[in-house]
Amino acid sequence: MANFLRRTPPKKQNVETITSENTVDILSSEFKLNKEKVSSILRSVGINLEAQNPVGELELYREVIASKIGDRSRFLNPDEAYIAELDEQLRSFDEIYIDTAPIIQKDWFLHFVTNAESILKRRKKKLIILEKTLEELHGLKDNQEKDKEVRIRSTIRPDLIRFLAKRGLVRIGDTGSQGIADDHLVQLFTQIGSKRNLLLITQDRGLSERIVRLSAELEKKEAEQEELPWFRRLFSRKSEETDTTHRMVVCKLVEEGKLKRCYICPECNESYYDDLHDCEGMVLCGRCYLNLKEQEAKQEAVNKKQREAELQAEEERQKRMEAEEARLEYERSRDTVENRLRTKRGKVFHISLIVLLALLLILLILLLVL
Ligand SMILES: [Zn+2]
Repeated sequence: MANFLRRTPPKKQNVETITSENTVDILSSEFKLNKEKVSSILRSVGINLEAQNPVGELELYREVIASKIGDRSRFLNPDEAYIAELDEQLRSFDEIYIDTAPIIQKDWFLHFVTNAESILKRRKKKLIILEKTLEELHGLKDNQEKDKEVRIRSTIRPDLIRFLAKRGLVRIGDTGSQGIADDHLVQLFTQIGSKRNLLLITQDRGLSERIVRLSAELEKKEAEQEELPWFRRLFSRKSEETDTTHRMVVCKLVEEGKLKRCYICPECNESYYDDLHDCEGMVLCGRCYLNLKEQEAKQEAVNKKQREAELQAEEERQKRMEAEEARLEYERSRDTVENRLRTKRGKVFHISLIVLLALLLILLILLLVL
């Protein structure tokens, strides 16, 4: 909040200007109002046109007139697909809180409420703006240290907020006894976060990170609760309202009042903004995701190499075994042939010996007879 509202140093460069006469002409024809009415509306919020006015301020003048005459049609997004998307984004929340900064940053709040108006009415939901925010706006409108745009927006926004409150689209929330709205919001979200789906719209990154971490803690607690045995669950202080998972989502407003959600990367612990998806708030950031993918790819390459090496080693082992088997087979077969030959040779020798002995015996007998 403090950073956002710090006065930006005045720029002395060549600023394109437009005469006060031309400014009034343009605005009166755009809004179909007479010139006197245009000047008086601008004067009523402290804009006194000078001879030359920066062209860049024209948008602010348009915003002032549109707010004062209650015609916000120029902020309505004509794209039905976008309105359907916004409906999808907002419908799941029971309560939608809006911090001070998004209300006065450019004309984004006007875009947001104009686009969300019909959705909130149809879904019977309200935007909740804390009393503290109205007090802050009141303090900013007369603070000469703030930018002219901040002062003017702080002047015209409370009228719009009261108008929306009358129409039942805004509820002014009690800030509680705590002085700092941020701390009050964190405390409030801690109390009701497990019972309701909450959306906080803030431009404050520090506060956003506190809520995202708080949400992660509550989700973890709920998961632990789910894991308890049935008899422990029965006696624990869990009510029917906590039967479904509740979540807190934090977004900031960007151009055209669109929502960008704050996530925290569980890997590098840094927060970042991205489109609003229906998921938990702790999601890997793009850089860590790519790093992880790279690591995975490297690991996969290492694994592949290892698998290939193992496969090759196995093939070689098989080959060695086959060779060994073949050698053994050869040895066995050679052995057998040699043995057979040896046995044969042995048999032949024996037979020859017997024949020889028989012959000798016959010879001896013959000699004796003769
Ligand atoms: Zn990361």
